[in-house]
Amino acid sequence: MIDYQPFIEQLSSNDNYRDALAQWLEQIPAQITNGLDEKRYGDLPRWQSVLAQLPDWPTSDYDLNQAAITINTTKPLTTAQQNDFKQQLKGLHPWRKGPFNLLGIEIDTEWRSDWKWDRLIDHIQPLTGKKVLDIGCGSGYHCWRMRGAGADLVIGIDPTPLFIVQFFTLQKYIQDHRVTVLPMGIEQLPKKLGFFDTVFSMGVLYHRRSPFDHLVELRDSLATRGELVLETLVIEGEEGEVLVPEGRYARMGNVWFLPSCPTMMLWLKKAGFNDIKLADVTDTTTEEQRRTEWMTFHSLEQFLDPDDHRKSVEGYPAPRRAIFTAKAP
Ligand code: SAH
Repeated sequence: MIDYQPFIEQLSSNDNYRDALAQWLEQIPAQITNGLDEKRYGDLPRWQSVLAQLPDWPTSDYDLNQAAITINTTKPLTTAQQNDFKQQLKGLHPWRKGPFNLLGIEIDTEWRSDWKWDRLIDHIQPLTGKKVLDIGCGSGYHCWRMRGAGADLVIGIDPTPLFIVQFFTLQKYIQDHRVTVLPMGIEQLPKKLGFFDTVFSMGVLYHRRSPFDHLVELRDSLATRGELVLETLVIEGEEGEVLVPEGRYARMGNVWFLPSCPTMMLWLKKAGFNDIKLADVTDTTTEEQRRTEWMTFHSLEQFLDPDDHRKSVEGYPAPRRAIFTAKAP
């Protein structure tokens, strides 16, 4: 069941959090209702019934610090129970960000999101005791990793209701209410929160029409000297170079721009950030993003030129992603 009450109680029981987020706390119930509106999202009742029918199973422990977020049980499932559980979980197809291991069922998601985590973790400020925001967090895979790295509070936001249901599938068994994923986009985040110690924006910037507005929103959600971790699609090139795909990019319809790394760093500077660093640049491979039994639609292989994997099907440079860190003023 999708229940935000324990999270809200958790926030409200901490004086600092309650006072700093008072304004947002008032808006959250309406934002949840709006983000999970069955009239807007016709499949939502079906996903919610999948969630409601998942077995109440005795869990022993969980591990947020390995590649697959893992939930263990004291009572192993029989083969028949495993098959049933697997079929239930497949009712939440497509599983994009992961991997997860629930009671012995391996959810081999479209993305090896753990690879992105491994690329960034040594380059960021330690998360121990921190208040963290993950914008466009998908199923919340990285939110769990952030909590595993010691964050005190992790709030993910994502406007796609299926991913919210996937998050609560994990939360049903983990029951850690210092982690949540709220059904909303960055537009709904209160302006100038000035609250978070670390803000992640990964895989979101190129979907935004106004890069500077996004960067300023990120800056204003951070506490003084808080850290931004930004991951986005980039191109090779000098300062000033930006690719604006005329139509689709790697079959994605809503990609507005791909800066070169020096351009991205200039944008961060222009938006008021300091200590801007390029942490990593990696070409996305068909091992990192691929079709699996948990995501049976087209994936990267089908988005690349079949004769030349250095190009997208549209003839643009193939997906390459970079991770930047920067400090809010
Ligand atoms: N951060 C994850 C997922 C990236 S996919 C990762 O790096 O692996 C991009 C996500 O952004 C999707 O889950 C999508 O639902 C979400 N998204 C789209 N528009 C958004 C918006 N306006 N605000 C926040 N998230 C958004």
